[in-house]
Amino acid sequence: MDLAVLDAIAQAAGAENFSAGLPQRLLYASDAGKIGGEAPLPRGVARAVDTPQISRVLAVCHCHGVPVVPRGAGSGLTGGARAVGGGIVLDLAGLTRILSINLADQVAVVEPGVVTSDLQAAAEAVGLFYPPDPASVGFSTIGGNVAENAGGLRAVKYGVTRDYVLGLKAVLMDGRVFRVGTRTIKSVVGYDLTRLLVGSEGTLAVITEVTLRLIPKPEAKVTLSALYADLDQACQGVQDVLKSGIVPTALEFMDQGTLMAVEGFAHLGLPLAARAMLLLDLDGPPEVVTRQGAQLAGLLAAGGGQPVRLAQTPREALELWSARRAAGPAIYQLAPNKFNEDIVVPLGQLAEMVRRLERVGVERGIKIISFGHAGDGNLHVNIMHDASDPAQLEAAHQAVSDIFAHVLALGGSLSGEHGVGTAKLGYVGAEMDPVALELMRGLKKVFDPRGLLNPGKLLPPE
Ligand SMILES: Cc1cc2nc3c(=O)[nH]c(=O)nc-3n(C[C@H](O)[C@H](O)[C@H](O)COP(=O)(O)OP(=O)(O)OC[C@H]3O[C@@H](n4cnc5c(N)ncnc54)[C@H](O)[C@@H]3O)c2cc1C
Repeated sequence: MDLAVLDAIAQAAGAENFSAGLPQRLLYASDAGKIGGEAPLPRGVARAVDTPQISRVLAVCHCHGVPVVPRGAGSGLTGGARAVGGGIVLDLAGLTRILSINLADQVAVVEPGVVTSDLQAAAEAVGLFYPPDPASVGFSTIGGNVAENAGGLRAVKYGVTRDYVLGLKAVLMDGRVFRVGTRTIKSVVGYDLTRLLVGSEGTLAVITEVTLRLIPKPEAKVTLSALYADLDQACQGVQDVLKSGIVPTALEFMDQGTLMAVEGFAHLGLPLAARAMLLLDLDGPPEVVTRQGAQLAGLLAAGGGQPVRLAQTPREALELWSARRAAGPAIYQLAPNKFNEDIVVPLGQLAEMVRRLERVGVERGIKIISFGHAGDGNLHVNIMHDASDPAQLEAAHQAVSDIFAHVLALGGSLSGEHGVGTAKLGYVGAEMDPVALELMRGLKKVFDPRGLLNPGKLLPPE
């Protein structure tokens, strides 16, 4: 890219909002996915300040054929914010205004850089509730959540980000600004472009404003946990809860490897012999959650949970959740590298999937650790390895292929919430109907005919 083009972009962004310096480019080279190989350096970084400025930057880049990679907090786990096609990164994390929270409409309008937990706190301060709750809630942005259709801990009861997005303001790669959706619960006028943009991983348009549905804040919460000496019993426990008629807010699973890693890391007193742990939250009116908590505790104990703990205080609830929160960092104790997969299977196939994961680990001679959102059939599967050892690296790649084959054979999907990015590009064709893939490529061409917005993501090359 020649210097005149960089100057034109800087002028469009405002000189104070653009940097082509090496430190800045290095800072924006990667996301939380830590995908192998050299991190591709963007040619520059533009800091977004408002929609008209974003429009100007995109129009200039479009005119000069410069790729643009939108970026929120960079907490994505599949390489979505990496500049693999060159060009510049457009940093939206500075757009942090909550523009309004309307009690009568139960609607929030926010800029894309608002951190998810900030919106949750602002909604709860006025008695409302924003349910999507990715484990990255303290640093991921709403724009990134929308672009990835983030899920999280409460999806089992409340669904995912898509279920709360009513409308969007966005900018096309050629600089045109447009709105889709409404601020109403219902609307069936035209194709549902709002839903199309949710989960589009920054490949169709840059989202600059989000209108979100809020709901009344639940009055009370109850937390319980159950440890199991038998893996099948733990999986049956998930089924028992889901069939009980009580819908938990969260229903999380941790396997033995996760528990051992957490214990080695956080010393919480977890029994190392336990084969699995389930962790549940219930929310609603206090008398209802108290009754349902006791009911589920009885159910889990009858199914082999030993011990089952029902938190009596908010502090005890936090203690129960601390094992789950420590899981991510703890497993890095086991090996220097991991492939972090995000598989999802139909609920009835969860137990079979867990058994197959164990089998793949044994067959490939590699440690596979899984934990995650069992109530959605969504497991975070970590294939631990040392990438500097070619044999281990090869075994880890083979394990990923085996696992994906099992997921698809069981009627599942390769990603429940982390998206495709660059990490899963090679496998999209295995899951996707070829005609559907063709339609998606056509849609990409309608939104971005020159293929400049976040190239190299989501859709495999033709
Ligand atoms: C510890 C940890 C725990 C996590 N837990 C969960 C979890 O429980 N559930 C879950 O779903 N995810 C989880 N994630 C993944 C990640 O946090 C989510 O994908 C999140 O939605 C990414 O938000 P971000 O702001 O960091 O986006 P980025 O990583 O910056 O970007 C992600 C994608 O969105 C695009 N994008 C960002 N902003 C915009 C915009 N304004 N317009 C258009 N495109 C845009 C980017 O181009 C990129 O493709 C976790 C990550 C970590 C590190």
